[in-house]
Amino acid sequence: MVHSLWFRLLLAFALVIVVTIGAVFFFINQAAQAEIHRFEERASRMRADRMGMEMSRYYFQQESWEGIQPYVEQWGSIYGERIVLTDAQGIVVADSEGELLGEAYSAGTPGRPLSTLWQTDFIGTLYIIPQPSSVVGFTALQILIRTIGLFFLWGGLIAVAMAVIMTFFLSRRILAPVRSLTAVAKQLGKGDFSQRVQIKDRSEIGELAETFNSMAGNLERAERLQRNMVADVAHELRTPLSNIRGYLEAIRDGVIAPDENTIRSLDEEATLLSRLVNDLQELSLAEAGQLKLIRAGENIDLLIKQTVAVIQPQAMAKGVSVSVDLTDGLPAVDIDWQRIGQVLRNLLENAVAHTAEGGSVSVTASRQGGWVEVSVADTGEGIPAEDLSNIFERFYRVDQSRTRATGGSGLGLTIARRIVEAHGGRIEAHSEPGQGSRFSFTLPVAR
Ligand code: ADP
Repeated sequence: MVHSLWFRLLLAFALVIVVTIGAVFFFINQAAQAEIHRFEERASRMRADRMGMEMSRYYFQQESWEGIQPYVEQWGSIYGERIVLTDAQGIVVADSEGELLGEAYSAGTPGRPLSTLWQTDFIGTLYIIPQPSSVVGFTALQILIRTIGLFFLWGGLIAVAMAVIMTFFLSRRILAPVRSLTAVAKQLGKGDFSQRVQIKDRSEIGELAETFNSMAGNLERAERLQRNMVADVAHELRTPLSNIRGYLEAIRDGVIAPDENTIRSLDEEATLLSRLVNDLQELSLAEAGQLKLIRAGENIDLLIKQTVAVIQPQAMAKGVSVSVDLTDGLPAVDIDWQRIGQVLRNLLENAVAHTAEGGSVSVTASRQGGWVEVSVADTGEGIPAEDLSNIFERFYRVDQSRTRATGGSGLGLTIARRIVEAHGGRIEAHSEPGQGSRFSFTLPVAR
């Protein structure tokens, strides 16, 4: 309860209401007091003038101050002020409180002279000692509380009631999507990745829901990929394994002899298996984005020439010629030497493998802005258009039986694409069945 959103909102609202009302009340009180003070002062001065006139008239009629005391007492009680009157010698002749009669009194005493009384001669001084201002302030406060305090009380109560209602609905509105998010997150946690949050809200919560849904989508996709991957791998492993088992069973049953040929066939299947396992490991690293590239500014001419030299014997054995045509002054490229060598070797092996005797393979490289583009073109069998878009998918082979005979795992191009993309480059294939294929990839120029 104390930690609930509703309670916190309510607390914040209540605090704002109390502070606002308090501040308004304080400032109104302050202003009202100042106003009352000014009014009081003006009234007091006017009273003093009138009293002074009355007293002068009295003196004029009586020719002395005798008998003035009752009048002064009356005025004092009417106006609520202390009135002191002294004669020309400064001796008190009247005091509304009756205490100072006959004593000397002067301006140094508390209070202040408001009127000096003159007939033709100086006849005395009238002192009016105002009420202490705290009393005025207090009165003002009393008036204020009586008149507008009640208004504030009701206003405050209404505001608090509204705050309770508003925070209640507000927190419900906010919490409803949060609750559904929580529910879906729980489902996700249990492994049900198909769940999505249904929130049509354009606030931050809506944004959160959208982000959450796209996260769920990614999780679902990743999970599906993983499932497919396992299925693919199982499928790929099954074929060489069952071949090996077939050979072994045939040997056991005496159908075939365990001679050199059989052993070579067994060895080929085992080699295929181990290549598959190696490629898989490579691919899993690449797909997890964990391919550690050791990059440096490298000489691409050298890399191409070295790789071609490695592939040359294989090509010559097959009667395929390999040529290299590089533009002069190629810049250094920022690459992992081993990995790009692996990409190039894979493309060259594929080209040689899919090109018949008498055909040719050519490697070219040229600068394209901030990139160096390397191409491997062959005059081989080519790739049908419907397969061209799939050859970079893992385990995809255009002709299952033929490619298996050449020992391909169907992962070579997948890994090559991952490696090139990890360098920030692109790899693509163009092909015309019967005319040959051309694979090209880009590498970033070193700074
Ligand atoms: P593999 O290990 O089977 O060669 P890749 O991923 O390297 O797997 O290639 C996928 C498929 O693309 C190959 O099985 C082959 O059918 C096709 N392919 C690749 N390169 C060429 C090429 N130069 N000419 C014709 N087909 C090719």
